Amino acid sequence: MRQLAALVLMMLLHQLSFSQNENLSPAKKTALESVNKHSKELTALSDSVWTYAETALKEHRSSAILSAYAEKQGFKVTRNVAGLSTAFIAEYGSGKPIIGVLGEFDALQGLSQKAQTTKEPVTLGNPGHGCGHNLLGVGGLGAALAIKELIQKNIIKGTVRFYGTPAEEDYAGKVYMAREGVFNDLDVCLDWHPDYEIKVNNQSTQAIVDYTVSFKGKSAHAAADPWDARSALDAAELFNTGINFYREHVKPSVRMHYVYLEAGKIPNVVPDTASVWIWLRDSKRAGVEVLEDRMKNIAQGAALMAGVSYKTFLNNGLYEELVIDKGAELLQRNLDSLGGITYTPEETKFADDIMKQFGMESKGIDGSVKPLKPTAPDPVGGSSDVGDISWIVPEISLLVTTAPKETPWHSWVVVACGGMSIGHKGMLYASKALASTMIDLYTNPQEVKDIRDEFIAKKGSEQWHALLPSGPPIMRKD
Ligand SMILES: [Zn+2]
Repeated sequence: MRQLAALVLMMLLHQLSFSQNENLSPAKKTALESVNKHSKELTALSDSVWTYAETALKEHRSSAILSAYAEKQGFKVTRNVAGLSTAFIAEYGSGKPIIGVLGEFDALQGLSQKAQTTKEPVTLGNPGHGCGHNLLGVGGLGAALAIKELIQKNIIKGTVRFYGTPAEEDYAGKVYMAREGVFNDLDVCLDWHPDYEIKVNNQSTQAIVDYTVSFKGKSAHAAADPWDARSALDAAELFNTGINFYREHVKPSVRMHYVYLEAGKIPNVVPDTASVWIWLRDSKRAGVEVLEDRMKNIAQGAALMAGVSYKTFLNNGLYEELVIDKGAELLQRNLDSLGGITYTPEETKFADDIMKQFGMESKGIDGSVKPLKPTAPDPVGGSSDVGDISWIVPEISLLVTTAPKETPWHSWVVVACGGMSIGHKGMLYASKALASTMIDLYTNPQEVKDIRDEFIAKKGSEQWHALLPSGPPIMRKD
């Protein structure tokens, strides 16, 4: 009886999504057909990227198969963008508007996991796609491909550009690309990210700076003649003490976190070098600038107290995401007309089982489209290099379900779901949702104008600049 009820419900849901798709414009229907037509290839690409599971700036095989596929489909591909060997741009069409779509493909350290409901790595200690970026990159490319085919058929006019953006989890890959100006001529840019809900991502991110603070002193025997030493570790400890006293006097939107990179080798040698890796975040770039100044003063004070020298080095920094309401509303309209995702009983069981294995209560998988929420003034929970892009070009961001409800992110559950049909469905849905939103931008110049007017007004006098050291990214040892 329950099975029959489930079957009737599935048929109703199918009819619902069918009738909603019936109302779509011919161009949007063609885009959806294009994604369906390429779904096997797109799924195979995402499974390959999932298997390669390459971390930031090491995504050589992932970048190679994605760019080769784009080239085979007729895109003009530029590799080695901004000196990053895994960054590429795939472009098709000519003239305005120029609409971009972003795609990441880097994995996370130590999260290797099979596509199953019990925790078991493919190879212990290896990386895994705990943020779903295997889906992210391919989903964006699938949308660009659908648009490319519409331009080719003369149904829409303009240029589509897919950005293969490496190193999101570390090194701020997009900021290196942005510094080269490769986003400057875009009219609008879109992106999506895997999630456990389908919704417009109209919440901002935190602005951040990432610094290494190093102290240099003088070694001596810690018991025989410590008075001849100047301890770099003393300075590092005083620096962190200063940061921790400063915590009382920062706004609730601020987050400051650090680790010791270097703190001496053995207790009987006074350490002559010590360094701290520190991240400072606030809801706005302007707030982070205040933290940066204080942090540098605290480093100077610590060095003075310990009688050592110090250096602060900016590894990178990210802007908060600028949310454009007009873009969010346009995406919402497209999500509403597309409808949600339905899951098979096997997929629902997979979701239930994996959450129980993770030690959490199962809340199922949520394939419904959420209504648009107001943008919160102070975002929490992290930073993204998409933030920088949003100060160069108006950005429209989407979240799509690829994992069970309330899945803890950067976990083995995300890896497992990203390598099977729950992840695949979300990825193909993202391609469709992005493509149909892009069609509105190509066919309705007023949409582009409204979005850009809001972008210019919100950006105000802020002049975006890359918060990076000169030259290519300096890679850390794993
Ligand atoms: Zn991510």
